[in-house]
Parts: sequence; C-alpha cells; structure tokens
Amino acid sequence: MARHHHHHHLSHDELVDRLRAFHGHLGPFAILGYRAGRLAVRELDAPTHFGVDATVHCPPQPPPSCFADGVQYSTGCTFGKRNIEVVPSDEVSLTLVVRDSGAALTIVPRREVIACFGPWMEEADDETAALRVLDMSDEELFEERA
Ligand SMILES: [Zn+2]
Repeated sequence: MARHHHHHHLSHDELVDRLRAFHGHLGPFAILGYRAGRLAVRELDAPTHFGVDATVHCPPQPPPSCFADGVQYSTGCTFGKRNIEVVPSDEVSLTLVVRDSGAALTIVPRREVIACFGPWMEEADDETAALRVLDMSDEELFEERA
C-alpha cells in the first residue's frame, strides 16, 4: 500500500522542485492539478501509474491546461500510457477511475479560487501564485464531494 503514496512524504521544497522540473515552470494551475490528483488518489485509495484512468476537463490552452500536467504528476496517469484524457471544456475538473473496482471520483476546483489565479499572477508571479495554492487546504481548493 505504501508504494501508492510515494509523494506524500515530500517536503514542499522537494515537491516544488520536482514539479517545476517536470512541467518547466511552476504556476497555480499545475499545483491545482497536482492537488486534485493527490486528493483523488487518497480518497479512492487508488494505485498510481497503472490500473487507473484520469479524465481532465479544462480549457485547451495554458495556463488552465497546465492543470493536466499536475494531474499527470500526482496520479502517474500519462499521455504515453494512454491513461489520461483531456477534454476541452470551460470548466476544470478531474475524474479518476480505478480499473479493478470501477470506483470513481470527480474533483472540482472551486470557481472562486480559480478566479483568483489571474490577479495573483499579476500581483506577483506565477510561482508565488503557485505557492499560495500549495498552502491552501483541500477544503479551500475543492468543492464538496457527493
Ligand atoms: Zn504551466
């Protein structure tokens, strides 16, 4: 079981370095996707990388599409393995499905949080905005799940 949770012991600094290396820069949408994926994996007690499928809804261009890279990072669902699909949408969400059980969960970021990202990036920079997202709780970031 522990192998499913290999990101959880990372310090913020390590996480930020690894996600920046993976994605090329750090912004609020990449962190939001990371957090959505991590939450879905935890709540479903889902495996990562294999045996799990992710569907991401997001606008089809950066910065909002950066959400999909954060999801790839925390779920291990990647384009090369064909277990992530990105559906262009005005809304942002992640649905994670465990193949064996069929258990599924949809994580929806709060609109009012996403609405802050533009102003936060303008006030400071992308990375500062990203760190603000990283410091927020799951309850602050995401809608209640049914
Ligand atoms: Zn980005």
